[in-house]
Amino acid sequence: MKAYVNEDCIFCGLCADLCPAIFQLGDEQAFVSANEIPEEMWDCCREASEECPTEAIEIFE
Ligand code: SF4
Repeated sequence: MKAYVNEDCIFCGLCADLCPAIFQLGDEQAFVSANEIPEEMWDCCREASEECPTEAIEIFE
């Protein structure tokens, strides 16, 4: 699985709260810190994607 934060991110910080091992906050938007998401992080990664208020997290299974 791979994940990507697109330009719709409003920098709310929710993804970094839900899945801090994968999502980090940059200067203007969140970013994904792992190129390939480890399997044990898939659930929290999907949760972050579902909860993101602007649907800015794209997941590629
Ligand atoms: S939850 Fe969505 S809008 Fe909020 S920081 Fe993460 S990617 Fe950006």
